[in-house]
Amino acid sequence: MPKKADILLTNAILLTMDEEFNQYEPGAVAVKGDTILAAGPEAEIKKAYTAGKTIDCGGKVLMPGLVNAHTHVPMTLLRGLADDLRLDVWLLGYIMPVEREFVSPDFIKLGTLIGCAEYIRTGITTYADMYYYEEDIAKATVEAGLRGVLGQTVLKFPTPDAMSFEDSLESAREFIVGWKDHNLIIPAVAPHAPFTCTPDILKACSSLAAEFDVPLHTHLAETAVEVENMIAENNMSVVPYVKKQNLFDAKVIAAHCVHIDFGEIMTLKNHKAGIAHNPSSNLKLASGIAPVMEMLEEGLNVGIGTDGPASNNDLDMFEEVRLAAFLAKHHTNDPTSLPAKNALLMATRMGAAALHIDHITGSLEPGKRADLILVDINTLHNSPRFRRDPDGVYAQLVYAGKSTDVTDVMVNGKWVMQDRHLLTINQSELLEQAQEYAHRVDSFLIEREQSVLAKLIAIGGATEGESFEVQAKVKIANPKPIIENLGIPDIVIVYERHYHEYDTYFGFDDPSQGSVRHREDEFVNKKGEVEYVRARLTHVGLAREGEFPSKVLLSRSRFLAPATQSLRFLREYFQPDSELFIEKDRLRWLVRYKGTEFYVNIDRVDKPELGHYLEIKSRTWSRRDAETKAEMVAELIEVLGASPDETVTEDYTEIVGIEK
Ligand SMILES: [Zn+2]
Repeated sequence: MPKKADILLTNAILLTMDEEFNQYEPGAVAVKGDTILAAGPEAEIKKAYTAGKTIDCGGKVLMPGLVNAHTHVPMTLLRGLADDLRLDVWLLGYIMPVEREFVSPDFIKLGTLIGCAEYIRTGITTYADMYYYEEDIAKATVEAGLRGVLGQTVLKFPTPDAMSFEDSLESAREFIVGWKDHNLIIPAVAPHAPFTCTPDILKACSSLAAEFDVPLHTHLAETAVEVENMIAENNMSVVPYVKKQNLFDAKVIAAHCVHIDFGEIMTLKNHKAGIAHNPSSNLKLASGIAPVMEMLEEGLNVGIGTDGPASNNDLDMFEEVRLAAFLAKHHTNDPTSLPAKNALLMATRMGAAALHIDHITGSLEPGKRADLILVDINTLHNSPRFRRDPDGVYAQLVYAGKSTDVTDVMVNGKWVMQDRHLLTINQSELLEQAQEYAHRVDSFLIEREQSVLAKLIAIGGATEGESFEVQAKVKIANPKPIIENLGIPDIVIVYERHYHEYDTYFGFDDPSQGSVRHREDEFVNKKGEVEYVRARLTHVGLAREGEFPSKVLLSRSRFLAPATQSLRFLREYFQPDSELFIEKDRLRWLVRYKGTEFYVNIDRVDKPELGHYLEIKSRTWSRRDAETKAEMVAELIEVLGASPDETVTEDYTEIVGIEK
């Protein structure tokens, strides 16, 4: 007596991707509810099962849906926004500022649905994500009918959905609690990367993931710079560092792992971490080539991912699988490395294992969920077909197959695409809305590109501050008598500092833009040793607000930000028309003169050699206050024994003259 199924899929080239790589032609699959009852030779399946619906697959390949092991799906809305840039300029200069401005639940929903439409069309049934508002990604994923391992991002910086890491950790907990029993969604926590998280964040994420037995998704060792910095700061490479933060208490999904050594591979293996290899992203961002063959040889589960659509720029797993095979061959200088069959395994069963969900999906076997696709390999670009070698069909799919050959997709027992018609998503409506976003983002960036100050604010961390100060600069021949005069009873010294300052000025052809100054301050202690270094970024606006007698100036506004980026980054980001370097030794006193505080600087300008200058400055907040202070500054010049006739109104940049 045959058993009852809901759907019988017959007349297929059935690739089960099970442990034995069993394939059947003609093969058939029986599905009941969300589950696969049986997969095998058509004759056997037909004899054992009856179903309300039998679907003739027309000789297409019937195989497990593809598993995209690493992505940031809503970034479909940012694809093509900025390309051919270095990772930091791309991320800090463009992506993050736009995300801060635009990412909202509405943005997330639209971006996710577009990504899911693309997933379905390219045969992806499961994906592992890491982004913001993961709850909204989950809702859209369910609407599209896909399976997702979705990680709520946690970072040490404020994010579009959280003011602090405590907030994002709390929303990660809520997200996990709310979704942990869902039939399509596996919630996860995603500490972004070791260098964007603190040790405490990594530990907290790991214990959260362990508490609920959900995956922890992160980026590890993506670039050589990351590893260099890690070694410089912590004296160890990336994998031992995260191990020290207890990361492997959780089921880890580690994206990239490009720059890891054999010891690190063994650590990842011992802790059963899953790896997400991202060929297009690593190639496009020139991050390097991951040691995939070494990882596979040691028995690690390595899946394949597209990474975010803004760094790929599409979500085409057929392309990624092909590139994974090619990259492995190129990297090992051996064309027998990573045969097509194994590359496809990475995108199916092994990919699911890398996400710690191979008990649910990744192969067509009884008991697993019905996540499957039909691929037409009877196409112009994929003909003819040889049958002598049973592995030939894998080569057909990997080396000649295209994502557009996918015709039908079922997830969890439900069709989401049939005969290339999307059943859960209205594609054209979404694309219209995406175009509206693109228009708004374009306008935002065009406006920003016109203002150096806006660009400075956009890279974040800026302490917005407009200040006014009265100041005078006097050329002096010898600093000694002036330093001695600072000891007179009228002057109270609040503190004294010694700096070595390295200033790089970026100038722009449009003078109304002002200039950007990158200053590295070396704080020199009493013993003459450099005690610490700090770097700051300042927007120097149009300075002159007014002039008082004795050439005392009222100057306006600096916009200060801690400079966490390298000069190289700033140069590529601001694209200045000219550049100027000034190096000086600065003795600085904060003094109280007749009850008012003044900064007294004695500068020795070493590069270029300009000699000594005395600078006196005081913050001010009203015209009247400025007038009083200007008089006192003029008085101080004389009290300190400098000559008012030697007062100059030019800045050092103007004295030197910015070179083109
Ligand atoms: Zn990524």
